[in-house]
Amino acid sequence: MSINYYELIIGKFFRPDIKDYVPDFAYSPLNILGKLYEPIIDKYWIEKSKYKPIWPDKKPYAVCITHDVDHVSRYNFPQNLRAIKKAIKSMEKRKTKKSLSMILESFGNVLNYIFRNGKDPYSNLDLLINIEKNFDVRSTFFFAPEKVLKIHFSDCVYKYNDKIYFFGKKKTIADIIRYIAKEGFEVGLHSQWWSYNDPIEFANQKKQLEFVLGKKVYSNRNHFLKFDNRLTPYVYKKGRILYDSSLGFNDNIGFRRGTSYPFYLYDLSNNKKTGVMEIPLIVQDSAMLLKVKGLRISVKKCLEYVYEIKEKVKSTSGVLTILWHPHSLSSKNFYVAFTEVLKMLKEDDPWFATVAEVGEWWKNEVKINIVDFLEEEFNKKEG
Ligand SMILES: [Zn+2]
Repeated sequence: MSINYYELIIGKFFRPDIKDYVPDFAYSPLNILGKLYEPIIDKYWIEKSKYKPIWPDKKPYAVCITHDVDHVSRYNFPQNLRAIKKAIKSMEKRKTKKSLSMILESFGNVLNYIFRNGKDPYSNLDLLINIEKNFDVRSTFFFAPEKVLKIHFSDCVYKYNDKIYFFGKKKTIADIIRYIAKEGFEVGLHSQWWSYNDPIEFANQKKQLEFVLGKKVYSNRNHFLKFDNRLTPYVYKKGRILYDSSLGFNDNIGFRRGTSYPFYLYDLSNNKKTGVMEIPLIVQDSAMLLKVKGLRISVKKCLEYVYEIKEKVKSTSGVLTILWHPHSLSSKNFYVAFTEVLKMLKEDDPWFATVAEVGEWWKNEVKINIVDFLEEEFNKKEG
């Protein structure tokens, strides 16, 4: 089996929608070829053009650290009440047993909230900011909207007026969002489950974050990386998103579209190019370290995987985009792995930048258009 790189990059392959699960969940035509851990398109580009991307201050490659803010607290009372309400509302669409276990968990959290003193394990945005400031890294935080028009049981439950402890003081999520932006990090949208195919739902979610941030939001990542090759690029274009970073894996790591290079998403439903740039996601924390899904590897193995992958990205001067969930730092394994990954990368002295910074640099300075290039190659072969 050979692979058409043009069709790969524009996503002209897809699995049928499986109920409300992620359409091409862990699927890439690269799986079957054993090429998941190779940036085959980057290599092909270099072979043909003899040209590699150049980064600020001649840095060897770019690293984009990103965070999906799924939880800001575990024990917060209103948030757990919302979680219970949501579980009941979405019960008919979900197995009753799962909904009930979710409700029980929330009740347990509420009891913890009432009877327990001390730190909330999921409130660690301040910890994360401290770690990154120490490493002189600025990252992108994707925040969820407060409300959705169409509910899914996995949607986030925090609201912008909820208060959590942040650097020792009670702060609203709204204050924290603005603080993060002021400190030179990027605030992007973590669009929720049912936004991937619905421009109205998407626009509604984006508007809420922009209101609280007080400025436009340009970057996005979908919750659970939900993405339909046929529809999502159009939703982003309509929603005036400039940069997306949803094309990665939930249960694996690697190059889902065969590239670490940013590229413009193609709108398959209207057969049109879009100006929406994808900064592909390469490495995700929970795909490696969760005990219940994905690769389920140890911290040691995780560092070996990340090392191999970053060597590949380094060899093509590409972009290593990493997702690390803030709440996961409550687990020792996730905490240790995250700081060790930063330490490892720091030794190469790459360009650490936010999603929008990488996108802008690529657009204005690197100017490689991998989709146009592969289209030409494809037409040559066809002709
Ligand atoms: Zn999420």
